[in-house]
Amino acid sequence: MAELDQQALHSEMTAWRRDLHAHPEFGFEEQRTAAFVAAKLREFGLEVAEGVGGTGVVGTLTRGSGNRAIALRADMDALHIAEQGRQAWRSQMPGTMHACGHDGHTSMLLGAAKLLAGEGGFDGTVRFIFQPAEEWGRGALAMLGDGLLERFPFEEIFGLHNMPGLPIGHFETRSGPVMSAEDNFEIVLKGLGGHAARPHAGQETLVAACALVVNLQTIVSRRLSPADIGVVSVTELIADGTRNALPGMARILGDCRSFRPEVSAAIEKEMRRIADGTAQAYNVAAEVAYTREFVPLINDAALVDEALAAARSVLADDAVRVAAEPMTASEDFARFLDHVPGCFVFMGNGDTAPLHNPSYNFDDMALLHGARFHAAVVRRRLAVG
Ligand SMILES: [Zn+2]
Ligand SMILES: [Zn+2]
Repeated sequence: MAELDQQALHSEMTAWRRDLHAHPEFGFEEQRTAAFVAAKLREFGLEVAEGVGGTGVVGTLTRGSGNRAIALRADMDALHIAEQGRQAWRSQMPGTMHACGHDGHTSMLLGAAKLLAGEGGFDGTVRFIFQPAEEWGRGALAMLGDGLLERFPFEEIFGLHNMPGLPIGHFETRSGPVMSAEDNFEIVLKGLGGHAARPHAGQETLVAACALVVNLQTIVSRRLSPADIGVVSVTELIADGTRNALPGMARILGDCRSFRPEVSAAIEKEMRRIADGTAQAYNVAAEVAYTREFVPLINDAALVDEALAAARSVLADDAVRVAAEPMTASEDFARFLDHVPGCFVFMGNGDTAPLHNPSYNFDDMALLHGARFHAAVVRRRLAVG
């Protein structure tokens, strides 16, 4: 098969990325994006299934007679963030923005589909998975629950995320735990509100809440082993008082990160104990709700070697390395790794604003690197002959 013109492909991917950027859609609302993806995949000659797990799309491409199948995955959803960028392709949807670069991820996987459909160079089946709702950690489960693995079987899966701060054209990842679990909590303190001038006559909750916020800091510093990584962040404190009335209710909300289920369980257990004890000390009652939103992302060691080798085949040798540390951010890709082995890598986005920042922008110079990386993984894992 003829080789595709890489510069033409890059221009095309840039146009797709900017179109998607101008039309961001929140998780499970990716109707336009999914239709865009499905139309492109059909244009490249892939078999396409839409509506997989809500707005998910799966493209299938087979070459040769090999019976192995691997999956490549991108995410399609945007965030409820008001964009501050002034570029011509800025968001046309007030209050919604591609602030995590999923527009770039989608364009790169489409680019890989076009590249592989046009050039071949592999033997077997590739599943191109475009998942909805990565940001709130529900899209992968929705696709799995809709029979993804039974309807579109694959033996291993690869994905990537752009990373501000890492130079363009650089790739890194590591084996084992790469990204953390995310748990959320809400603690409600209940007492009896009353006059600001007569605290002794009620059971006000604000001083108790302040003490509890401080006491929660001892979970990581005093209850977890120093060898374990954990984060307990209180992010909101809401009370129902007013200037001259003491609150009878206070809510404390927050977010925890960890890399092992045992650590997540220990954080919850300590949180419940500390909330009950603090509430008792301040003569109020505590109710704790603790939920698990994301599971840890665990890369397969052998497939990390394969992914890094694939990256080295299309990039400068010194641009590909093993990451020094796991990250305490979370990724819905982890749900696929509960079923099949795989590898998730980080790709440089250069010196841009951080992810989820109103000024963030995906750098289009990274598009061709991502598409070529995806294609290299396929040609390595589904090698001809
Ligand atoms: Zn994000
Ligand atoms: Zn993201």
